[in-house]
Amino acid sequence: MKFSKNTICIGVHKVTNKLFKSANINLYSRFYNPAQVSIDITNKCCLRCVHCDFWKNTKSHDMTTEKIMESLSRMKKFLGCYHLTITGGEPLLRDDVCEIISCAKQLGLSATLITNGFFMDEEQTKNIVGSGLDKLIVSLDSHIPDVHDETRGRRGCFERAVAGLRNIRSFKHNTGVYVQTILMKTNLSSVEEMLIFFESLGVDGIILQALWKNLNYSLESAPDWRAKSLLWPTIEESEKALDTIIRLKTRGVPIHNSFKQLSAIQSYYASPDKFNGMFSCDTGETVKIDSSGNMRLCYAMEPFATIDDADIGDAWKGILRKDITQRINSCNMGCKALNCNYMYSTYDLILNLIEEIRYS
Ligand code: SF4
Ligand code: SF4
Repeated sequence: MKFSKNTICIGVHKVTNKLFKSANINLYSRFYNPAQVSIDITNKCCLRCVHCDFWKNTKSHDMTTEKIMESLSRMKKFLGCYHLTITGGEPLLRDDVCEIISCAKQLGLSATLITNGFFMDEEQTKNIVGSGLDKLIVSLDSHIPDVHDETRGRRGCFERAVAGLRNIRSFKHNTGVYVQTILMKTNLSSVEEMLIFFESLGVDGIILQALWKNLNYSLESAPDWRAKSLLWPTIEESEKALDTIIRLKTRGVPIHNSFKQLSAIQSYYASPDKFNGMFSCDTGETVKIDSSGNMRLCYAMEPFATIDDADIGDAWKGILRKDITQRINSCNMGCKALNCNYMYSTYDLILNLIEEIRYS
């Protein structure tokens, strides 16, 4: 990954935010700004994942290329440096992804793309890394093709994603390549083989996430979703698997999550309700822009602005003044075990920053 002024700027930005937040001082709402923007460039998807509801979207009002580029530029004026995550739905359903990445790079941003890997043929993969992408994250839920394909609802998606990951090794590039996996019943019993397989693909890191209710833009879900879910593991399955994961990380398998987060995920599976009450979440660090241009603090909260609003900064400060921190801190949802919402300590953030600089 190429080290840029933006990397250190974002790192300092995050650490400063954390200090402001923990100090809980009045200046907080005046000086606190998110350090990350996550944008869904489409809400459509080519897969049918069991753990996601995005593919059920029938209506799509995706923003045009110009609108997305204008949004990135407006966010730059509001935030200065920030880290951009391009996601969806499946972002590679659009044919302008490389243009969007190039625009982000011209604005001096660091950019991550999250994809299910279905469209990562040789040419597309070459174009993506060639456009200056900093980090590519490919979702893989197993090392066993049938298990992955079944969870993702489409035959052949394992082969295509893995071929894309193998292709990328044959190009010269500066993009950090990661595999992202949701820990669930279908992959926990063979977690060691799975992680060793991912390592053998030569990726820079493996990002592990806890299972949460089906992803969509709503907090609504059946209260007993875990009991009904075919993917929720037993306590014994999750305990054993997390012990294995921690052992593999100690041995040097490139698991991106900190030891502290892995222990938190273990507590979440063992006792989700207790976990939800004990942990706070990192919402407020990221502005989430959906495919229609609505801006949210997290995907489960109502929009506080749209990308067309005259003063995004005012809308942001307005939402902070509504004592949103208290609402976030008392939010009882389990998504705080996910990477995007996991509450890193200042110490973890400094370690992450050092790691980024070291591997850049
Ligand atoms: S998890 Fe990703 S790949 Fe699966 S349906 Fe949802 S958006 Fe598509
Ligand atoms: S835990 Fe955080 S990310 Fe999840 S719904 Fe609550 S505020 Fe949003």
